[in-house]
Amino acid sequence: MNTTEIKEIKELLNTPKKIVIIPHKNPDGDAIGSTLALHHYLSGLGHHSVVITPNNYPTFLKWIPGEDTVLTYDNDRETVVSKIKEADIIFTLDFNHLSRSGHLETVLATTDTTFIMIDHHQQPDTYATFTYSDTGMSSTCQMVYHFIDKLGDLDKINADIATCIYVGIMTDTGSFRFRSTTSNTHRVLADLIDRGADNTAIHEKIYDTNTYSRLQLQGVALKNLKILPEYNAAYITISQKELDDHNFKKGDTEGFVNMGLSLEGIKFAAIFIENKNEKIIKISLRSKGDFSVNEFSRNHFEGGGHHNAAGGKSDLSLKETVEKFISILPDYKNALHS
Ligand code: 5GP
Ligand code: MN
Repeated sequence: MNTTEIKEIKELLNTPKKIVIIPHKNPDGDAIGSTLALHHYLSGLGHHSVVITPNNYPTFLKWIPGEDTVLTYDNDRETVVSKIKEADIIFTLDFNHLSRSGHLETVLATTDTTFIMIDHHQQPDTYATFTYSDTGMSSTCQMVYHFIDKLGDLDKINADIATCIYVGIMTDTGSFRFRSTTSNTHRVLADLIDRGADNTAIHEKIYDTNTYSRLQLQGVALKNLKILPEYNAAYITISQKELDDHNFKKGDTEGFVNMGLSLEGIKFAAIFIENKNEKIIKISLRSKGDFSVNEFSRNHFEGGGHHNAAGGKSDLSLKETVEKFISILPDYKNALHS
């Protein structure tokens, strides 16, 4: 995003606007954190802004400042469609292609207004009027911080905005450990703490609010963990029955895929989760080093994401999906051994 574009956006925001802010389907900490941070900032400037999620999101995110103002398309279709159709500006955050907005895709694709994309995923699409894309960024939350900075408004970052941004940086970097975590990320974090983000409280609210049944489900996932030593790979399966038996709630399987990646020598980890309702197997992929799970998911499982963290889906059964996965691995033997 160059200085001319920033100037144009600044001019756009000079008078009160109706603004809609949309994260990707199945919103995570970065998606909810970044959209709400932007919402607080824009409301503070005097705009009428609202965050609209395509579908519901996990309970561990249902305390973030302003979360009670979020509208969800799946729960409130008519209101959501009219808000989108009336919007002067639509911000799309933390996704690179309109298809990532789920059922909102057709609504957005047929809305003729100013779109502003802020996102760190690879291969960004070109639907937006203004595109702020940086695949080297830790998180969309960090980009919202830089966006506010570019507009010359760092002093407007209050405790609520700082908290929202901190959440997304923390969750998208695996608590500041992934390669995308730079010295600059830490400088941003330090500033957020100075501006009122309570780092210890945020960690506890996100990570220490497990239910007993969720921990039991984690036990099931660990029992189902399989290792494929010839490919330095590991995978986990969870069936719909296993979810049902453990009172599954959205978000309960978040982070499970990383258990495979924590094994010594493992460079590629996958989790396959049956979703009978959507008639798909939802897939999460993680890697260490040069192996691109973004490419792997694009090529084989209708998905994408980042170099070391991606997602996708399969219309086959759970068993057939795993068989397909295993049958593809020989093509990547060299890549996974380098
Ligand atoms: P997760 O595995 O945590 O759901 O997602 C990891 C990363 O991949 C996230 O950045 C997420 O936005 C992206 N991702 C997850 N599922 C999909 C998908 O079905 N399609 C695409 N293009 N990206 C996905
Ligand atoms: Mn993100």
